[in-house]
Amino acid sequence: MSMVAPPPSHPSLPTARTGEGLAAEMLAQLFEHARPLVDALFAQVNEGVTVQAQDLSLCFANPAAARIMGATSPEELLKTGGARVFERYEMFDVSGHPLRPEQLPGRQVIAGESVPEMVLRFRDRRTGEERWNRVSAAPVRDARGQVVYAVNVFRDVTEVMHTQERLSLLAEAGELLSASLDLESTLAATARLLVPRLADWCAVHLACDTTPSRQVAFIHRDPAKEELARRISELYPTDPQAPHGIHHVLRTGQPQLASDITDAMLAAVTQNEEHVRLLRELGLRSLMVVPLNARGRTLGTLTLATAESFRRLGPEELRLVEELARRAALAVDNARLYAEAKRAQARHEVALDAGRMGAWEWDIQAERVTWAPALERIHGIPEGSFGGSFEDYQSDMHPEDSERVLASIQSVVDELQPEHHVQYRIVLPDGRVRWLEAHGRLTLDEQGRPSRLTGVCTDVTERLALEEDARRLVREQAARAEAERARQHTAELLASLEKAQAELAQRAQELSRSNADLEQFAYVASHDLQEPLRMVASYVQLLSRRYKGKLDADADEFIRYAVDGATRMQALINDLLAFSRVGTRGKELVPVPLERSVERALSHLRLTLQESGAEVKVEPLPWVKGDETQLAQLLQNLVGNAVKFRGEQPPRIRVSATREDDTITVAVEDNGIGIEPQYYERIFAIFQRLHGKEEYPGTGIGLSICKKIVERHGGRIWVESTPGQGSTFRFTLGEAATSQA
Ligand code: ADP
Repeated sequence: MSMVAPPPSHPSLPTARTGEGLAAEMLAQLFEHARPLVDALFAQVNEGVTVQAQDLSLCFANPAAARIMGATSPEELLKTGGARVFERYEMFDVSGHPLRPEQLPGRQVIAGESVPEMVLRFRDRRTGEERWNRVSAAPVRDARGQVVYAVNVFRDVTEVMHTQERLSLLAEAGELLSASLDLESTLAATARLLVPRLADWCAVHLACDTTPSRQVAFIHRDPAKEELARRISELYPTDPQAPHGIHHVLRTGQPQLASDITDAMLAAVTQNEEHVRLLRELGLRSLMVVPLNARGRTLGTLTLATAESFRRLGPEELRLVEELARRAALAVDNARLYAEAKRAQARHEVALDAGRMGAWEWDIQAERVTWAPALERIHGIPEGSFGGSFEDYQSDMHPEDSERVLASIQSVVDELQPEHHVQYRIVLPDGRVRWLEAHGRLTLDEQGRPSRLTGVCTDVTERLALEEDARRLVREQAARAEAERARQHTAELLASLEKAQAELAQRAQELSRSNADLEQFAYVASHDLQEPLRMVASYVQLLSRRYKGKLDADADEFIRYAVDGATRMQALINDLLAFSRVGTRGKELVPVPLERSVERALSHLRLTLQESGAEVKVEPLPWVKGDETQLAQLLQNLVGNAVKFRGEQPPRIRVSATREDDTITVAVEDNGIGIEPQYYERIFAIFQRLHGKEEYPGTGIGLSICKKIVERHGGRIWVESTPGQGSTFRFTLGEAATSQA
């Protein structure tokens, strides 16, 4: 039962006559008279109610107040007094600052201050238990307005505060865990959230491939204990097969909670006395090990322990920590996936980079273009500087290629072609031109409309250059081989030509030497021999005239032979002289009327022609370039032969000429004995004759002279004949520019 003692500072009833004084008096009277009623009334409320007098002593307390203040009954509380509360409790304000007794609302009200409601944390110095209270105080004044009592109302808000604390813890954790993708820092931050709000220390372990587990975070509210805990775990590592502790939780994925750690428990998990002693030193009170479960796997554990705070970890805390562990585990798994993705991306990037490739994506509906950093590098712009619009994508395209690329993209989008391939040039900020090859794939949305074009760009500049180099090399090699073949061929040709030329030159040299020798000989012979020969001939003729018929018949015959020989030799020498003079005495080639040469030749032959009854028909002849004397000699020889080698019929001779281009071909035709084809060549050689001198007189030089004259005029001479019917001698000459007579 509750009771109110008379206020010690107010031994007798107040005498003041003011309204407040009266009220205070009335209150005191009310206490006196209505105590049973008041007691009964305040025993029913959950709020603690105390009445505090000016000397700070308590003059009223209800059972709830006694409970809140840690007293067994209101009577005990009234006896020990309000100040004693501080012997039992440590008190803190909402922000966790220790509170002095004079800061309590009741004290302040007594001191005449007005205070708002306060939320206080009471921490039992013996048990460590903590309670939260919302405390308000109201003054009771006397007639003079002096505060004589303070009425304190305490409401236990521990549950509310715990719920609030948990919610804010979860909210903070959620924020923290979603923000961070770095595994270890995430876990350390989580551990820091829990100490000291929920526990005195917190450790995080992760499952490992190589070792059973790995501690990644350890936070203790007392750094000195941190060292002790580390020593214990080093000295007494937990048995991976033990049916408790982190390895058990890692294996089973189920949490373990020991709300009240007893000596028996310690004895069961320790290995020896020293181990027990060290654990006792840690002063463990509660312990929980919670698995970090995500996506069906246990990734690690969260261990929470209380010691010096005497806080007790119960099912409520377990639920909270489990909830938190789920979030942490998800964050850990996300971090792991992110790291894996990052590694994969890095590998991908490295591969792309190595291949001078960069990924891109064009969100067609959102009109956004995204480039991987590698593509920015390819484009020669700083990482992260690509604007992201289609215009940005187009901006460094080579002006000559841009239309073609756009047409290609347009047709992919318009015709819903699944693939996009195009090769184009870009111009780098430094002006260099690179070749890119884009490969893309079109994605459609649910309605079948083009949604995105995703692909890779490859810098193919070097590849194209290499290909071009290779092609050029092949071309060059082929050209070189061809040139080499041609060179060899030419060299061979040149060599054979040179050889031929050398041979020719040698022949020509030999020939000209022999010609010169021959001409020299012919000249010497004809000229120098003429004089002695004339003497021989005239003396032989003298012999013949003077002694013919005076000696015997033999002598006459011998003399005749001698005369004959001398005459023949004279003829030979004259002919030889004529032959040698063709080359040495020739005149300049000038335009001459060929008919005049024919006339001269015929006039020289007049007697012969008359005697033989020859008929010579001369067709109109052109002007030619030549030596008139030599041409007359040439024609005289040919017409002379035509008469000499006549057949049964009187000679019929025709001289004619034909023209082809600048060349005049002259023909001397007869109806004589003709020539066998095998002699066509031979007859033009010097001293070559087909008949005996008895048959047809001659030296065999005539046609050689003809040949020599024609060749000096740059032409050639040949014969065609039908033996028994006649021969045609033809020779060519150059036509005179001052044409025809
Ligand atoms: P030659 O008249 O002194 O015998 P040529 O050199 O003039 O010497 O002629 C060589 C040979 O060619 C003659 O011996 C003759 O056999 C042959 N020949 C030349 N002209 C004629 C011709 N018009 N008809 C037939 N044979 C000819």
